[in-house]
Amino acid sequence: MPDEKGRREIIGIHTRGMPLGADVDLDELSRTSHGFVGADLAALAREAAIEAVRRIMPQLDLEAQTIPPEVLENLSVTRNDFVEALKRVQPSAMREVMVQVPNIGWDDVGGVPEAEERLREGIELPLKHPDAFHRLGIRPAKGFLLYGPPGTGKTLLAKAVAKESEANFISIKSSDLLSKWYGESEQQISRLFARARQVAPCVIFIDEIDSLVPARGAGGNEPQVTGRVVNTILAEMDGLEELQSVILIGATNRPGLVDPAIMRPGRLDELIYVGTPNAEGRAQILGIHTSKMPLAKDVDLKAVAAQTERFTGADLEDVVRRAGLNAIRRSGEKVKAVSAEDFDLALKDSRATVTEEMEAEYGRMKGELKKRAMAVTQIGFLAPGMVEPIRPKKHG
Ligand code: ATP
Repeated sequence: MPDEKGRREIIGIHTRGMPLGADVDLDELSRTSHGFVGADLAALAREAAIEAVRRIMPQLDLEAQTIPPEVLENLSVTRNDFVEALKRVQPSAMREVMVQVPNIGWDDVGGVPEAEERLREGIELPLKHPDAFHRLGIRPAKGFLLYGPPGTGKTLLAKAVAKESEANFISIKSSDLLSKWYGESEQQISRLFARARQVAPCVIFIDEIDSLVPARGAGGNEPQVTGRVVNTILAEMDGLEELQSVILIGATNRPGLVDPAIMRPGRLDELIYVGTPNAEGRAQILGIHTSKMPLAKDVDLKAVAAQTERFTGADLEDVVRRAGLNAIRRSGEKVKAVSAEDFDLALKDSRATVTEEMEAEYGRMKGELKKRAMAVTQIGFLAPGMVEPIRPKKHG
């Protein structure tokens, strides 16, 4: 991958014979074409030239077969032609592994202030001010494990921290990393990390990271595959140099099943619990999801929040959606606003996905995970008894 200096040189070569407008600044172009390889830059120069030709098309007499010299003399590729070309030519680095620039910020996440705070400190700060960490000689964390019940906003948090840190975002499900073909999973992971390094600063998000645990006895993927995948991820993480601006976030609903080797120091060593929001947090989440909804004066989101104990962010989003549907049902297409009655009806149809037992279970696991992490840190390896995954009790 060429860096800025390399890109400047390549653009220079591909625009060598081109009549460039006075406003074209090749230094600026090489700065803004982050992630472009040589072939992309060649395509960029070609597209810009086509853009310039398109501009003079109306002055050409196609019947004449020749171009009048005065038109040719005035023909030049301008800065604007390059700006238009940049809209059409995509850098290859962005094409292969889907690199996103998330559009979700801290304002779109509610009710999880502790997780937000820890991600800000652990990711946003080091990515935005790496020199401060460098000066103090401290190692910012390379990996985070978000765990908690489904629908509490783990994915949302990962996206928000990437956006607020002005980093790129690569999201992948563990199941997509598992291939039964020998060596393919490892290649996929190496490609993933290589791409992340190219588009750094970058946050890699691996969802359902628990399914990468070497399956013990249970069917599904071959244990060897998952073992190899975990090892490759660990090797890649160990190879990430400090302050390299690539950060891995894993997420799971079943932290007890996550391979303990992944939680060793220098890997996913920051464990962050993302639980169900309290009443204040629920009101905030309802506020986020009703921000574009016209509400009648009698709607009291705090009252709705008070009645939704143990509801997750996803549950609350569902309540809002149902209330909206109720309003449409009540008033037809002339509907103007959603009323308190619509919310009451919606609440009657909704249940919290998280039960009291599940919450207690997560509380228990929290303590257990801490103990595990400490044991791993102190003795550097896991005692045989500790390798057994903590299996959550069956519910219902
Ligand atoms: P899973 O474990 O099932 O992947 P998750 O914890 O990653 O779930 P998300 O995918 O982030 O949950 O949340 C699902 C949807 O629920 C989000 O797109 C969002 O609309 C809503 N939601 C969840 N939590 C919150 C929150 N804290 N604030 C605002 N919206 C939320």
